[in-house]
Order: sequence, then structure tokens, then C-alpha cells
Amino acid sequence: MSKKLNIAIAGIAGRMGRQLLQAALDAGHTVSGGSEAPGSPLLGNDIGPLVGQPPTGTVVSNSPDTAAQSASVWIDFTIPAVTLKSLQALREQGVGAVVIGTTGFTPEQEAEIEAFANDLAIVKAGNFSLGVNLLQALVRQAASRLGTEWDIEILETHHSRKVDAPSGTALMLGDAAAEGRGTPLSELRAPPYDGAQAKRNSGEIGFSVRRSGGVIGDHDVTFGSDMEMLTLSHRALDRAVFATGAIKAAEWAVGRAPGLYGLDHVLGLAPSTLQ
Ligand code: NAD
Repeated sequence: MSKKLNIAIAGIAGRMGRQLLQAALDAGHTVSGGSEAPGSPLLGNDIGPLVGQPPTGTVVSNSPDTAAQSASVWIDFTIPAVTLKSLQALREQGVGAVVIGTTGFTPEQEAEIEAFANDLAIVKAGNFSLGVNLLQALVRQAASRLGTEWDIEILETHHSRKVDAPSGTALMLGDAAAEGRGTPLSELRAPPYDGAQAKRNSGEIGFSVRRSGGVIGDHDVTFGSDMEMLTLSHRALDRAVFATGAIKAAEWAVGRAPGLYGLDHVLGLAPSTLQ
């Protein structure tokens, strides 16, 4: 096992927060802090029972400063405004390592995160699974080999409580396809089909979104020509896959120089691994 860490988890009672808590304990780390929203009925409660464990001595706090107090790394799967506010607190507290899984940041918020990375080692990924990381490389490769006469469509399905759309993972895959085509996604991204003038221009990358029940996260990237179709797919079967990846990222981030890193750095997979 790697060095035992003191981990603080933002949004610790959320769907991902609980998975992160379980994965951190399973990996032998100490969870030294956990934050929840002001007004949460869990504030002041011990974190252990959140995952059916005995009390640990750490309680849920509504203050990132308190939650981060003795942490060496902060893991944040919450909402964009909350993540950004926590980064401010972490810089003041001197917690040098951060893992961000939150999705749905605006371009301005992404720029703020980049600025924080001058002082903090931040690992940020829209998806912490190994399979999606590999899928990104495959999509980049396929897009670079297939001409613009091939339509690229990205379809994602998630549970009906998801806030942002398209998912962070769909946008990561769109970025990979756009990189393969040698043009920024901002120039190729097509809005969803809707209305009387919905036809897409050649070379654009289209996004479709489904929300249904309890789906954890399905992504399909389809390349279609007039004569054949190729679909690359990924399905998450358990949220634990993201939590395990995030704990690996936390272990990797502690003691790193400030900077903005991705899961490919953690896994040692350069984006150009597949040629
Ligand atoms: P969730 O709503 O279940 O959990 C978010 C938690 O944050 C909630 O418990 C909420 O009470 C808490 N919160 C809200 N305000 C807070 C505050 N001020 N301080 C502390 N906590 C606060 O959502 P989720 O399904 O766990 O997803 C969270 C985020 O993670 C979303 O952006 C989602 O898209 C993303 N996500 C990323 C990955 C990945 O691999 N990168 C995987 C799954 C989910």
C-alpha cells in the first residue's frame, strides 16, 4: 500500500462522497474531515455510519476550513461553486493536493481552477475510470484516421438526478474527437437536434443526452459514413470505479509540484499512447 494519507472529502454524504469514504477506508487511509451543505441534518454527526461503519472520531462539518484542518489531500465531487470556494480555503490552509471530480464548470470557472493550479497540485477529470481514459485515446485515434465525411455523435445516459448536461465525460470524449480532427471542440460542437433547421454541418461533433432512472453513466461515440458505422462504448457498472480512481489520484497528488493534472498523468498514460 502507498503511504497512509489524511484525506478530507467534500460533499461526504453525497452519492460519490459515500463511495469515496468507503474507498479511502478500504485503501487503509484516514478520513480526517468531511464537508456537507449548510443545513444538512448530518452536520456534527460521525462519518463512519454514513457507510455502515463504526464511529471514526471525524464529524461532518459545513466549513471547508474545519474539514481540511489536518488533511494532506482534499477530494471534491460536489457542485462547481462549492468546489471553487473550497479551493480558496485550501490555499489559505496550506493543503497542497486536490482531486476534483465535480463536472459542469463554465469556461470562466475552468480558468479560475487553472489559476489555483499555480499554488495547488490539482488532479481534475470528468471521469476517474480506467475504461473511459482508454476510450478517450481510442476516440482520438479513430477521429484522426476517419475523414470529416464520417459523422461523429456522442450519446450519454445518466440517472435523472444529474444536474449538468452533456456530462463531463461526454465533453471529454468530444475534446478527444476534436483533437483527432485537429480543431478545437468549441468550433465543432453542435447543439442537440431540435427544430425546423436542425441539420448539422459536415465535420461537426453532435451531442445527445438521455436522463433515465438510476443509470450510473453510459457513453457511446458513433462514427458513421454512408456505408458503415463504428460505435465505441463504455458503461459504468458501479460508482466505486470512480472512487477507486480518485483515491489513486489522491495518492499520486500528495507531494507533487503545483499544476493541473489529468488521470492520464496518474496512470502514466500519455495522451499519445495509442498511435
Ligand atoms: P450528489 O448530489 O449525490 O452529491 C453532492 C454532495 O455535495 C451532496 O451531498 C450535497 O449535499 C453536497 N454539497 C452541496 N453543497 C455543499 C457545500 N456547500 N459544502 C459541502 N457539500 C455540499 O452528487 P454526485 O452524484 O455525488 O455527483 C457530484 C459531482 O461529481 C457531480 O458534478 C457529478 O457530475 C460528478 N461526478 C464525477 C465523476 C467523475 O468520475 N469525475 C463520477 C461521478 C460523478
